[in-house]
Order: sequence, then structure tokens, then C-alpha cells
Amino acid sequence: MMYEKSEALYEKAKDLMPGGVNSPVRAFNSVDMNPVFIDRAKGSRTYDVDGNSYIDYVLSFGPLILGHSDDRVVNALTAAAQKGTSFGAPTELENELAELVIERVPSLEMIRMVSSGTEATLAALRLARGFTGRNKILKFEGCYHGHSDSLLIKAGSGVATLGLPDSPGVPEGTAANTITVPYNDEESLTEAFDKFGDDIAAVIMEPVAGNMGVVPPSEGYLDFVRDITEKSGTLLIFDEVMTGFRVGYNSAQGHYGITPDLTCLGKVIGGGLPVGAYGGRRDIMEYIAPVGDIYQAGTLSGNPLAMTAGLETLRQLTPESYDHFNKLGDMLEVGLKDIFGKKGQPITVNRAGSMIGFFLTEGPVVDFDSANTSNLELFKYLYQELLKEGVYLPPSQFEGMFLSTSHTEADIQKTLDAFEKALDRAVQR
Ligand code: PMP
Repeated sequence: MMYEKSEALYEKAKDLMPGGVNSPVRAFNSVDMNPVFIDRAKGSRTYDVDGNSYIDYVLSFGPLILGHSDDRVVNALTAAAQKGTSFGAPTELENELAELVIERVPSLEMIRMVSSGTEATLAALRLARGFTGRNKILKFEGCYHGHSDSLLIKAGSGVATLGLPDSPGVPEGTAANTITVPYNDEESLTEAFDKFGDDIAAVIMEPVAGNMGVVPPSEGYLDFVRDITEKSGTLLIFDEVMTGFRVGYNSAQGHYGITPDLTCLGKVIGGGLPVGAYGGRRDIMEYIAPVGDIYQAGTLSGNPLAMTAGLETLRQLTPESYDHFNKLGDMLEVGLKDIFGKKGQPITVNRAGSMIGFFLTEGPVVDFDSANTSNLELFKYLYQELLKEGVYLPPSQFEGMFLSTSHTEADIQKTLDAFEKALDRAVQR
């Protein structure tokens, strides 16, 4: 059997952890199979405990933009660990990463490091509420911003994958303060502002949605959101936890030329270690303790290992890295459309830099409802067959694929060959 050791480990894991995993999408529920357990990885490849190898498009759900176990990152981490793993005191590394991120991400004047994307968004919301003195926040259907209470409403990612739009355990009062509207829909946003504008502290959005599959903003939509928030004294928060350093060298905000008031980051800026960050206008950030009164803290925030992995990762990215992503993305998009076209199967491909999403539908896919027109049954079979062919995609139609600088044209060609075979078998099942 191909997955013997994985199966045995999963049996044991299910007894130890809910669903056998520490994060729901990893359980492979929506593709109706058991997860493979990973042993090691290098560059664009992962190797499971049974010795199967995969071209990896998950990349730890985004962080590993250089690919797995990049030599410079690993060497720097080894050296940093020898100096100590955590001090609970400031280090020069924190200055270095803060400076680099502020330099590259246009809206940032000050930043605060945390340990996950969830922490970054919940802290940014508290800050927005404290700064504006308003209660409500507005988010978009199908966007995911981590698992804090106010943001687990009509969320994407695993919440969408498992069909749990409103999680039990979120107090009604909290849910009532979260307004949701469809992505890319100017009219609904205008209506929400007409009704609640004076009490909306912040609009939080993924500037390219990546948690309902990949859904880029329609032409002019980000400008529209920037205008309407500015007019009503509402802060605009770009959640760039996923898009940061993936959509472009200066992140999505640099790519689209829109400046939010606050920005959340994570994933790539931690180079595969647990990091998140939030930052933005200095006058807003100075509301945070100990300068201001809004409290937010973390035992491992700014951790030297995490700062090191982030720094070594960001230092290796250049504008040319994004040319590489676009070239591979073009190849994948053209190839997929050709393969599906020949089989008479509908496909929609959405892309932004190193994020790629395909949907098994005619499209266009512009929001959560249109993402849901995808053929989830076919996706499931296609997924299973692709895994057998050595291609490891995110195990959900509502997660995007990621590229790294380690992925090559040969990888893409192999991936397309695998799709051709996998689709053949999937349509027959
Ligand atoms: N925001 C976005 C846009 C994300 O994609 C994610 C995670 N996929 C988060 C926030 C939450 O980050 P974390 O899982 O590190 O808490």
C-alpha cells in the first residue's frame, strides 16, 4: 500500500488530537481521504513517511516562499539557536526585521511583532476600535482572518471547507458587531455604510482573497473601499497575512497602489516559523501599550529564531523573484486551460503573483458564491488522483496554491502531465 505508515500514524493521531490534527484543513476531510504524514522536505519537494515524494504547492499554507529548508535560512537558524532561543528582552534582530518590513510595505510606519496571523488581526481590530471609539467591524464573506471571535463569521479557509459559516462558541453580542458583505460588490458595501457607517471602526479585507480559493479584487474595487472608509472615518485594514510578499515585492498594497491605515502580516515574514505582525500609521500605532493604553503582548513575540527565519527569507526575495512566479503561473494557467479544454471540463484560473487558484466551474469567480459553483465532487477525485501522481495541492477547493522560488519550469511541466492523467481518471469515477 502507498500510504501504510501514514495510515498507522493517523489512526494513532485521531485518538490524541481532534481529527488527528492541530489545524482542521490538514485532516483532508473535504477530499475524503486520510492525510499523508510528512517526514521531510527540500526545495519544491516534500517526502512522506512512506517514502512517496510530491511537488508541493501547499508550502505550509504560504510561508515557504523560498521552498522548503532553504540552506541560508537553515544555517542562520542553527547559528541563532546556539546564541539562545528566547530572551523576553529586545534584540537587534527585531529592529532588523521591523526595518526591512517597513521599508518594503508602503503603509507601514511602525510595526508590532506577534506569533500568528490570528493574533495580528485580533490586535489590529482592538486597536481600530480603541482608536476610533467605534464598535462594529466589517469583513467580507469567504475571507479568513484567523480564528478570533469577531472574525469567525462567514469565514473562508477551513471554515468554508467544513461548511461552518458561524462557529458555535462565538457570543451573539460579538457576532452582532461583525457586518459581512460579499467581496467585490460595491453596492452591498455602500448599503452597509449607509446603515452603520458612523459605528464601523474598521473594514478588514484580504486585498486579494486567498481563503475562498484565490479571488483578486475587481478593477477599481480596492480604490472604492479606500474611498468609502476614508469618507466615514473608518480604518481600512489590509490583512496581508497571505498576500504579504506573495502578490508582489511590495505586497498587495504596493502592487495595487492602495494605502491602508493598518496592515496585518504573517506567513512569509516568519519564513516558516511562527510569526505575525501588525502595523501602519504612526499616530494609530502609538495607541498601543506601553506608549498608549491599548494592551497587547506576547511571551514569544519577536522571538530570535522567528526573526532570523523571516529576515533570511525576505533578504533573498528580489523583484525578479516575482517575474519567476509570473512566468511559472502563466505556464500553469495556459497548461491547465488546455488540459481541461481538451476534456470539455470547465475551469477558471485566478492568479496574483505566487498565489494561484483554480476552480472547476465556468466562472468568473469573483466572490464566495461564485467560488461555490465549483464542482466539489470532481475536485475530490482529482485531488486523490493528483496525490497518487506526486502532486500535493492544498486539500480544499477553498485554498489557493503557492509557488516558491525553488519551483522550476520542469516542476510545472511534471505537474501538468500529472493533471492530464489525474483528470482522465477523475472524470471516470
Ligand atoms: N489572515 C489570513 C489572510 C490568513 O490567510 C490566515 C491563515 N491562513 C490568517 C489570517 C491566520 O493566520 P494564522 O493561521 O497564522 O493564525
